[in-house]
Amino acid sequence: MSRQQSVVAAVLGSVILTCGGAPAGEPSAASVVVLGASPARTTAIVDHAEEVRHKAFTQLLGEPRPRPWIERCAIHVHATPASFAAAVGGPPATARGATSLEFGADRVISRRIDVMGDGPDVIPDALAHELVHVVLADHFTAAAPPRWADEGIALLFDGIAKQARHEADFRAALSRGLAFSAADLLAIEHYPVDAARQRVFYGQSAALVRWLIARRDAATFIRFVADAQSGDLPAAFERHYGLEMSAVFDSAWKEVPPIHSLSFNDAKN
Ligand SMILES: [Zn+2]
Repeated sequence: MSRQQSVVAAVLGSVILTCGGAPAGEPSAASVVVLGASPARTTAIVDHAEEVRHKAFTQLLGEPRPRPWIERCAIHVHATPASFAAAVGGPPATARGATSLEFGADRVISRRIDVMGDGPDVIPDALAHELVHVVLADHFTAAAPPRWADEGIALLFDGIAKQARHEADFRAALSRGLAFSAADLLAIEHYPVDAARQRVFYGQSAALVRWLIARRDAATFIRFVADAQSGDLPAAFERHYGLEMSAVFDSAWKEVPPIHSLSFNDAKN
């Protein structure tokens, strides 16, 4: 039995620059391999990816010494939207990162990230977010985490400005009565097709995850998500947060902590 999962991050804006060069070498112990960037950029991306990977394993999964991925994560850096779209099969027009995973019986057997690398920064802006999806997959091999939880926690690894845009999308929808109901948000299995609804989904997922993490910590949140996969969501809220689900839905949107208080990424973009 195998399972394929694709995760796409929708983010904003781009400045087209060309970057090129052949795939370059990387440290033999690296858990990632970078394709499509110059040798110097490849080295910087590998270093950054290892750093984010370590942070995610430590802070989300409570594993400060994660073993290297034998099946290394291939990070494809794209210089143009056309190249990116051709690789990932036509994502939303605003996407700048995508993750593809293949699962064996009880482990991940293939890891791939595609990111736009056209901006001014050496490190692609969507890389950390996508790496979080890949790290979480090691923990959720039997079944993927719910979309809201997977995206909400990955968004905490985006830069502050990007997170602020997602927050603004959600707040605008909330004020106009266009936010998802909590029950609908938690039940979403597929990304909304409509771009505007997708933006609300990202912003609202991030808000709910921030609210929950602020009550305890990220590791508790991951344990809650894993527990909730048994199918008893109300019991999981009660066990990990001491909350009834109705209280969660009533309070979460009113008490979302500021982005900078919980972000795992200090980058401003
Ligand atoms: Zn994502």
